[in-house]
Amino acid sequence: MSQIKCIGILTSGGDAPGMNAAIRAVTRAAIYNGFEVKGIYRGYKGLITGEIAPFKTQNVSNIIQQGGTILKTARCQEFKTAEGRKIAYDTLVKEGIDALVVIGGDGTLTGARIFATEYNFPIVGLPGTIDNDLFGTDTTIGYDTALNTIMEAVDKIRDTATSHERLFFIEVMGRDAGFLALNGAIATGAEAAIIPEISTEVDQLEELIKNGFRKSKNSSIVLVAESPITGGAMHLAERVQKEYPQYDVRVTILGHIQRGGSPTAHDRILASRMGAAAIDALLEDQRNVMIGIRNNEIEYIPFNKAIKNDKPIDRELLNTLRKLSI
Ligand code: ADP
Repeated sequence: MSQIKCIGILTSGGDAPGMNAAIRAVTRAAIYNGFEVKGIYRGYKGLITGEIAPFKTQNVSNIIQQGGTILKTARCQEFKTAEGRKIAYDTLVKEGIDALVVIGGDGTLTGARIFATEYNFPIVGLPGTIDNDLFGTDTTIGYDTALNTIMEAVDKIRDTATSHERLFFIEVMGRDAGFLALNGAIATGAEAAIIPEISTEVDQLEELIKNGFRKSKNSSIVLVAESPITGGAMHLAERVQKEYPQYDVRVTILGHIQRGGSPTAHDRILASRMGAAAIDALLEDQRNVMIGIRNNEIEYIPFNKAIKNDKPIDRELLNTLRKLSI
């Protein structure tokens, strides 16, 4: 067994609903196993500025249902430099923190991997991002909530789209991943999803136009993943409007509402299981791994694998969307 006594916890990068449930789970599972816990504020920035406080079970009471993160989050350029990471290490030593649990996306885990290697420091990561773009886990914390928010918003847009017989391009988040757009499209009965994973292969808009945007329907909804590869909803709408002035085209960019809100049951349970598993991993002397859940089983995924491997889009989902939107 390792000599860990005190575990530090932080949330970093883009926030995601369910991060609070994860903070609660890590804190409570750590205390249950006899560890001390310290909360680090504003991601890696807190390790530079020393914004750190002891965490007891009461610090995480009544937060499982809250969106956002009570530990706050930030982007920290300094942590990307060797000098910044040295300050972070000195802070950890001063605070008596011997292991870290970090919750965040690709960037957060990249920072964790570099720091863990540089200082031989035990770190366990939890995948916290609405984008679902981390390899080694079926879903990430926050993804299901964001997907449900998209579904509710698109349902509302569908009402007005149908009344006016309009074609809507709705932009959703996802950075360079199409999971939100593709599954959002299936869940809302949208006509298509334009996603970066496919944009590199074919001109999806061209295909849609060729298929006639399904003239038999009185509204059309296309979900677009926000990405330089797809060009974004605005760009695609302008293209269509120019070539087909007869279409009544509109654009909605869902934006930050996708990040907020109370986490779904799925995200709360996922975050709770992953948080408890992070402490199990440390007890088993695991380090530099991300907790994943695949086929309902907890797995330890080395940081390298989680970050570097692309998480492929399931072709079956694409085919389902095509079949159902005729
Ligand atoms: P996310 O975790 O949501 O992908 P970011 O990409 O903004 O968000 O990363 C969050 C933070 O992780 C950054 O602000 C930085 O502090 C740290 N980080 C990201 N990439 C690196 C890197 N290459 N080296 C060190 N730290 C990094």
